[in-house]
Amino acid sequence: MLGYVLDEVFLHHRAPSGHPERPARAEAVRDALVAAHIAERGRQVPVRAATDEELARVHDGAYLDELAKVVPGNTGWLDADTYYSPGTWDAARAAAGSASQLAIDAIDGALQRGLAVVRPPGHHATRERAMGFCLFNNVAVAAAAARARGAGRVAILDWDVHHGNGTQDIFWDDPSVLYLSVHQFPYYPGTGAPTEIGGANASGATVNVGLPGGATDQDYLAAFDHVFVPALDAFRPDLVLVSAGFDAFVHDPLAGMRVTHAGFAAMARRLRAVADRHAEGRMIALLEGGYDLDGVSGGMAEVLAALTATGVAPAPIAPLPVDGPVRGAILATLHAHAAAGHPIAAPPAEGARP
Ligand SMILES: [Zn+2]
Repeated sequence: MLGYVLDEVFLHHRAPSGHPERPARAEAVRDALVAAHIAERGRQVPVRAATDEELARVHDGAYLDELAKVVPGNTGWLDADTYYSPGTWDAARAAAGSASQLAIDAIDGALQRGLAVVRPPGHHATRERAMGFCLFNNVAVAAAAARARGAGRVAILDWDVHHGNGTQDIFWDDPSVLYLSVHQFPYYPGTGAPTEIGGANASGATVNVGLPGGATDQDYLAAFDHVFVPALDAFRPDLVLVSAGFDAFVHDPLAGMRVTHAGFAAMARRLRAVADRHAEGRMIALLEGGYDLDGVSGGMAEVLAALTATGVAPAPIAPLPVDGPVRGAILATLHAHAAAGHPIAAPPAEGARP
């Protein structure tokens, strides 16, 4: 069973004129999901506000106190990119709370898969700081909720074109949460080097693949097949969370990648297969970035298709490029993990994966 979150509350986080992180994004995704008959393919999960306890698992008390003082009912900026409007407080708390509820429902068995069209996004929000359009780290709140509900191991795959520095920060030294990110590198926010592999207690539980600008579907799938899927198979998550940003889309105005709808579909299907192998199918996708309306709406429709397919056929292993910067980027990640004493296995031979 798929549970999904779609709600007007997320449209009331109103952007200053010309800001790319605008309500039209969520409207475009909603329209695409409605056109894909989402109501017949799952059940709507009501939004709810994150509790103080849920937020405090991943954010500093002083930061939460500051937001509660400044944001409700007001208009302003938390940093050069991160605005708030009178509707922001309710939207941000609903984004984190709804993500958390989907995770709780998945661990309880009330639903198997989830999809949440939330704003503001979350993955740049650190323990103690808003940045990059993000206030609360929604996916981190969800991962922490799943852990508190009894999940032993939670994986977060972040394919937003920007590195999820906030999610990495929050789980840096936590071996129970595997954070994997593929992103344009170097690029905003500057983190996400292949040598960033986790803290002393969690070495190997952070996996970064920083691809050069211009990377294609095949380049992303090579990162999945040679790095992420083997790392996920070794970790054996009880829940797969996806920071589903769509700003790696070929026409996105904020970045320089060349991913298509088919690329997002192929990535989502690989994660669905991981969830089916290890997590009894439990997989939840949360909207992060994506600023071209066709990219974000078509991309999320492909995620819906992957989440609701009756099964996913095994995909052929994408080849590692024989030379060039994409090969270099993938090998840099593999070398960093091998050098730290926890090598990532090579993908299985064709047909060998169960
Ligand atoms: Zn982004």
